[in-house]
Amino acid sequence: MELTRTYRSPWLDEELDDVRQLARTFFEKESVPNQERWAKEHQVDREYWNAAGDAGLLCIAIPTEFGGGGGTFAHEAVVMEEQAAAGDDAFGYSVHSTIVAPYILKYGTQEQKEKWLPKLATGELVGAIAMTEPGAGSDLQALRTSARLDGDEYVVNGSKTFITNGTHADLIIVVVRTGEEEGGKGLSLLVIETDGLAGFERGRVLEKLGMPGQDTRELFFSDMRVPKENILGGEEGQAFLQLMEQLPQERLIIAVAAAKGAELAIDRTVEYAKERQAFGRELMKFQNTRFVLAECATQARAVRTLVDHCIELHLKGELDAQSASMAKWFSTDQQCQIIDRCLQIFGGYGYMLEYPIARAYAAARVQKIYGGTNEIMKELIARTL
Ligand SMILES: Cc1cc2nc3c(=O)[nH]c(=O)nc-3n(C[C@H](O)[C@H](O)[C@H](O)COP(=O)(O)OP(=O)(O)OC[C@H]3O[C@@H](n4cnc5c(N)ncnc54)[C@H](O)[C@@H]3O)c2cc1C
Repeated sequence: MELTRTYRSPWLDEELDDVRQLARTFFEKESVPNQERWAKEHQVDREYWNAAGDAGLLCIAIPTEFGGGGGTFAHEAVVMEEQAAAGDDAFGYSVHSTIVAPYILKYGTQEQKEKWLPKLATGELVGAIAMTEPGAGSDLQALRTSARLDGDEYVVNGSKTFITNGTHADLIIVVVRTGEEEGGKGLSLLVIETDGLAGFERGRVLEKLGMPGQDTRELFFSDMRVPKENILGGEEGQAFLQLMEQLPQERLIIAVAAAKGAELAIDRTVEYAKERQAFGRELMKFQNTRFVLAECATQARAVRTLVDHCIELHLKGELDAQSASMAKWFSTDQQCQIIDRCLQIFGGYGYMLEYPIARAYAAARVQKIYGGTNEIMKELIARTL
């Protein structure tokens, strides 16, 4: 029995089962046949975004009045789980649907919401969020990209790096410095519409350890002029507060992917260990294989129950920064440990990129780094103790 089938998360219901089936069918048809090519091209097809929009998978938790699916975070979680199950590590779905769209929904003016959300829901616009700079990642207060008001426009100068959806993004939430106040007070979220935008340039597509199909890029801004009304929420200096409020959901999303990634690795390994023979018997008959997998299954269950607890808190609107940070560091740490131990059971085949376990190993590593590093998560938790 697959690990992923021996336990049912308490927040699931029949409607979510239907969403899961819809997402599964979509990813099997639209993603699986293209993944090898996307990995070589370092991007998904632009039309894939529109297809996901047509299938109703984008912005599934955004209210229907803004073109979304009217669902909840649980709907997003199910779609992300099915993306992972299909082995799709190229599609920047979560940044678009569960980060960019919620920022606009929560902080956007009515005009901003009406202008951008319906297009994000159809895939006409692809979203990205650009915080990290070459000189500042964990330390958001050290961000330097500046936006200086000149008449009705901001003049933006600076650069960002490691930006997911960097190739396809047409709507980017950029963290900019609009004032010189101490700490985070001078930071604002400025939404840029890249179509025909003078002074906006996409840099290199970055070669990564894993997730080769994802378009992770540098972005450059030189005297880029952005209308004043594109400040998210219409008021400067709000970025730090907005980021602090939204980061727990971003961290939970990473934890959702980690829980699923760990379970999938175990299921694949059990299947392999029951087929592969050594010394005249199945790998699964060796006590070491059995114990390693039993330990991994237990660790994965511990992750799953913590993540489920956080999902339930979030669905009630009660997810706190401490719990989200715990879920993020613990789940991703366990994911990496579990996948490493599973890979060992594949022997040399585990090191071959044609085996999903090798790709999962490479993809998992970044989970401990982005969305706030695991060291920063522990700092945040320690502050609450
Ligand atoms: C594949 C990928 C996709 C990404 N996508 C995006 C994106 O879409 N948008 C975006 O804005 N960013 C994105 N990032 C950037 C990511 O969020 C940053 O890499 C991350 O926040 C860490 O910042 P840094 O790389 O500058 O590391 P640094 O901040 O330089 O940290 C280096 C090391 O020092 C440790 N460290 C730093 N400060 C402390 C401290 N106070 N206490 C203890 N240890 C500390 C860190 O934990 C880390 O181990 C992405 C990164 C990758 C790799």
